[in-house]
Amino acid sequence: MLTNDQLAQWDRDSFFHPSTHLAQHARGETPSRIIRTARDCTITDRDGNDLLDAFAGLYCVNVGYGRPEIAEAIADQARELAYYHAYVGHGTEASITLAHMVLDRAPKGMSKVYFGLSGSDANETNIKLVWYYNNILGRPEKKKIISRWRGYHGSGLMTGSLTGLGLFHAKFDLPLSQVIHTEAPYYFRRPRPDMTEAQFTAHCVAELEALIESEGADTIAAFIGEPVLGTGGIVPPPEGYWPAIQAVLDRHDILLIADEVVTGFGRLGSMFGSDHYGIRPDLITIAKGLTSAYAPLSGSIVGDRMWKVLEQGTDENGPIGHGWTYSAHPVGAAAGVANLRLLDQLSLIDNAATVGRYLNDTMRAALADHPNVGEVRGEGMLCAVEFVADRDDRTFFDPAQKVGPRLAAALLSRGVIGRAMPQGDILGFAPPFCLTRPEADRIVAATVEAVAEVL
Ligand code: PMP
Repeated sequence: MLTNDQLAQWDRDSFFHPSTHLAQHARGETPSRIIRTARDCTITDRDGNDLLDAFAGLYCVNVGYGRPEIAEAIADQARELAYYHAYVGHGTEASITLAHMVLDRAPKGMSKVYFGLSGSDANETNIKLVWYYNNILGRPEKKKIISRWRGYHGSGLMTGSLTGLGLFHAKFDLPLSQVIHTEAPYYFRRPRPDMTEAQFTAHCVAELEALIESEGADTIAAFIGEPVLGTGGIVPPPEGYWPAIQAVLDRHDILLIADEVVTGFGRLGSMFGSDHYGIRPDLITIAKGLTSAYAPLSGSIVGDRMWKVLEQGTDENGPIGHGWTYSAHPVGAAAGVANLRLLDQLSLIDNAATVGRYLNDTMRAALADHPNVGEVRGEGMLCAVEFVADRDDRTFFDPAQKVGPRLAAALLSRGVIGRAMPQGDILGFAPPFCLTRPEADRIVAATVEAVAEVL
């Protein structure tokens, strides 16, 4: 077996890590953290340290680690039929069954499921479908996409443009010109402290209306948003936000893409965030929770009104010119089928709702009154603590102090993994749905200790 030192050396010599400070890593200033094994909510590194993974990887291992049912489904599929493509009408039992199961669970009004590999490529598919749709309808000018500041939709060319976080644009010549951004539904950062949630919702709606007015509704094809902002800070929407936004989009014939890569399949304690907030999407992006990350698989769920036009388009133009070699990969699909069955059999979405509420309540009780805590917020099995230099006027800490990363490091030294969200000093938690109450207590206790150490 390779020694840890040997692996760490090869890592620095050979491995281009995503979302990593490349120069610091090469100099050995960031740790090479090599994970060996995992079970339920606990991962174990090569030094034998057990860590409670309160972020489920990247909010994706929803059923928890080490599930033999999914591992066996993957192995059986690989032995029986490792691969066949899905072009020109081909399918496998696993991919067809998974499409059926997804639609069975999806909100009303959805027609079909297209399968990809990552959340980014699923959103790329969505934007292409939106453009195709408007071309078939004879509206070639109606192409711009509205996204929100602080939204996260991937890191490709188009999807990195949709993402509304500066780090993902700077030095990459993004955003592309077809993408425009509007106000984030981020009540804690409302423009005036005396605004009620309802007033802030009205403000977001007015900003959207003004953008549509200035750009021209006949140039805008779609609006994309996560039901709860995820990577942008774990921010549930203000009261009445989604119905009010939906009404504006309906009025201007603008399609709605619900990016449910994080919220799909139970993270909010409901099957989909769209049902949770009464959103009626034309497209839903799914990934992470579709397979609980046991295999890479994503999807675009296409709504009825778009599907009719896509079919019409192929009657006029021939087969749709879109597809990946690995679309609907049977091994990923087998993982998806086993994963969705497990969610049902173990009532894991109910657990996400009840233990998620317990985690949020306990975190709020422990930290909401701390002088450097601006807000404790969450929904279902999502929880965030936002830190501020001064809670009365919500001032940020100087970014040079790196308060968020230092808090995450202090948490890690206590055996708990949380995530310093990329913008602002926000600690995020998104544990697997099988989290127990004692584990929730450990997360809160470690956070309280980390806060005492750093602040
Ligand atoms: N959409 C959302 C809401 C996400 O959170 C993410 C990933 N965190 C993506 C899209 C992109 O998914 P991927 O990293 O699989 O490309």
